[in-house]
Amino acid sequence: MKITKVDVFRLKACDWDSNQPIGCRIFTDNGLVGHGEAGLAYGQGGTGGWGALCDLAKMVIGKDPLDIEMIWETFRKTTFWAMSPGPVMYAAMSAIDIALWDIKGKYFNVPVYVLLGGKFRTKLRTYASQLQYGWGNDYEENNPHIWCKTPEDYAHNARLAVDEGFDSLKFDFFDRHADGSRMAYWEETGIIPNAELDRVERIMKAVRDEVGYEVDIIMENHSRIDALGAVQLAQLAEKYRMMAFEEPNPPTITSLEYIASHTRIPLANGERIFSRWGFMDYFKRNLIQLAQPDLANTGGITETKKICDMAHAFDVGVQVHTAGSPLVTNAALQVECCIPNFVIHEHHVCNRQITSMGLTKYNDQPVNGYFEIDDSRVGIGNEWLPEAIENKSILYKMIE
Ligand code: MG
Repeated sequence: MKITKVDVFRLKACDWDSNQPIGCRIFTDNGLVGHGEAGLAYGQGGTGGWGALCDLAKMVIGKDPLDIEMIWETFRKTTFWAMSPGPVMYAAMSAIDIALWDIKGKYFNVPVYVLLGGKFRTKLRTYASQLQYGWGNDYEENNPHIWCKTPEDYAHNARLAVDEGFDSLKFDFFDRHADGSRMAYWEETGIIPNAELDRVERIMKAVRDEVGYEVDIIMENHSRIDALGAVQLAQLAEKYRMMAFEEPNPPTITSLEYIASHTRIPLANGERIFSRWGFMDYFKRNLIQLAQPDLANTGGITETKKICDMAHAFDVGVQVHTAGSPLVTNAALQVECCIPNFVIHEHHVCNRQITSMGLTKYNDQPVNGYFEIDDSRVGIGNEWLPEAIENKSILYKMIE
């Protein structure tokens, strides 16, 4: 089997520019097609990721798509830049890698998890994520989408998710002013004033009063605050028994050592850490308790599985991160269902909204707070819709 051509595209998922998934399809001489994604749908740098993916696609023409390990290591060692892991090159490598695993699953007529070691669990506990943005659902009218301002808004959104069956939630409690306007990054760094801490505490208390303590809550901070404020918020999180503190600051070893030495809350980190080599020192120093490698920018299925296994050796749990379309959700579930150290799966509110619609064959949703993998689907379990590539591409290139 040989790779004959690869197409690379960036899709405009909705009217605004905040979510533009980057994908590829790898075609083979026996008719199998693999679908992959580069996890730079939002933020800045996606144009570079699309370009890097075009460059890497040229390298795989004529290769046997089953030789995944050789192709991955060739990217790392022969492209000059990939020897030091970073988001643009590793997102491009991830897209090719995911598509190759999709082909391998189709070639052997099995879901990818069978090839990764077999299913460890049939149901994957899933949490409702980023509830500060609301818990809207474009498929149901009358499901109120509330951008949180007051403590009651946060409690309201928590209730919406719990009433759907979720027993675990995630909030960023410190990303906006009391009027709902976004905080500037300089307002989130340094020592947090007591008045702001009091406001955050009122929010946490309102949520706990609404859903009680049997619901697990992850506190997210998107790396925007720094180590000083992180320790202050961590102390509140301890009081309200948060499950984990995600991305307390931009990940660096030294500042995380300060945070870890001043809190008992498990630290989640990894969506901005790339490859085994990136995670290695955090694990060695016990600075991550809940690893969140991003499947589509840390090196794909191949690399994510290895990071998860390395995490296991350090008693570190896993929630695989994704930053893209429903396609990469399915790819993440393939890995999560077969690793012993899986803790929980993130379901972002945007996974329910217009940014995830009309792109892929499936847009799976958890039921009662759990995902189940459809064993009847081979490969990664999802694919790009041809009409989406045809009608929504803002960047497109065929390499052959
Ligand atoms: Mg996060």
